[in-house]
Amino acid sequence: MNEPARYLRTVTLPLDQLRHFPGNAKRGDVPTILDSLRRNGQYRSLIARQVDDEPLTVLAGNHTMMALELHGPGDCGEPVKTGKGTRPCAVCGNDRAWELTARVEVVVCDDDTARRVNLVDNRSSEKGGYDRDALAELLSYMDDDLGGTGYTDADVQLLIAPPPSLEELADTYGDPETDDFWPVLKFRVSPEIRDAFYGLTINCTDTNDDNVRFRYLLDRARNAPDHAA
Ligand SMILES: [Zn+2]
Repeated sequence: MNEPARYLRTVTLPLDQLRHFPGNAKRGDVPTILDSLRRNGQYRSLIARQVDDEPLTVLAGNHTMMALELHGPGDCGEPVKTGKGTRPCAVCGNDRAWELTARVEVVVCDDDTARRVNLVDNRSSEKGGYDRDALAELLSYMDDDLGGTGYTDADVQLLIAPPPSLEELADTYGDPETDDFWPVLKFRVSPEIRDAFYGLTINCTDTNDDNVRFRYLLDRARNAPDHAA
């Protein structure tokens, strides 16, 4: 029981000869993986387990397989945009004859090791962290062409210009005003209530400021004739 996995061979196989790991718990970002596959190609093999006459079961790379299924057979009709122009999709080569295949490393192992490999392959990637400086440097080589990296322009902006700290804000804007520490009222209302609020406060001095509107409404309530009178 629980023998280590043993490598058998690397093959390129039609996806219909593979099946997903039953009960895979990870929910991966399939569109991002497909974006990478189309730009970078399948740089990593799926890892699949061979059991007698059953179809090969994918232990690791289930989301890569899903991304290939999302691409589908034949020409996806989309060349890949790069910083310098376009080039063929690295999955299908924009070839109508492309068949839905994946490169697969085939292993044999027992049930216990199969589950362990599936679990740890998902877990190990999420447990790691990042050296932010190293990440920013790597991304700086991309020359604003982030295709197939999994990063967006907004991600990079956050990385190279993170939100300012409180100390930096105080340096820039001076010490916070006393009303920065005032309580904040925040609640959800129906569209009808919102419209009534805006309607009843239309004559306040600054309709762009809900704070002014609210004080105006309080004044109206205070000055309203008593219902009982
Ligand atoms: Zn394609």
